[in-house]
Amino acid sequence: MNETDFPICPKHDSFMIEYNFEPWEAVLPQGTLEAFRCPSLGCSIVYLTGAAEGLYTLEPRGTLKPCSSSGQK
Ligand SMILES: [Zn+2]
Repeated sequence: MNETDFPICPKHDSFMIEYNFEPWEAVLPQGTLEAFRCPSLGCSIVYLTGAAEGLYTLEPRGTLKPCSSSGQK
């Protein structure tokens, strides 16, 4: 069995791809191992692995806001 650890964008229902954020692009929480982005251009959903694993929304200023997976469309 292959390990398909790629997260899925809840908005677009598509696999997210690994992405290296530059320091000016996003403020990653301490302990972040990897960051993933949605392949859809302009999508602001980010997934982080590591200490602060979960889905985030990338805000215009580079802030990552945790999104709750429950109760969200
Ligand atoms: Zn998306």
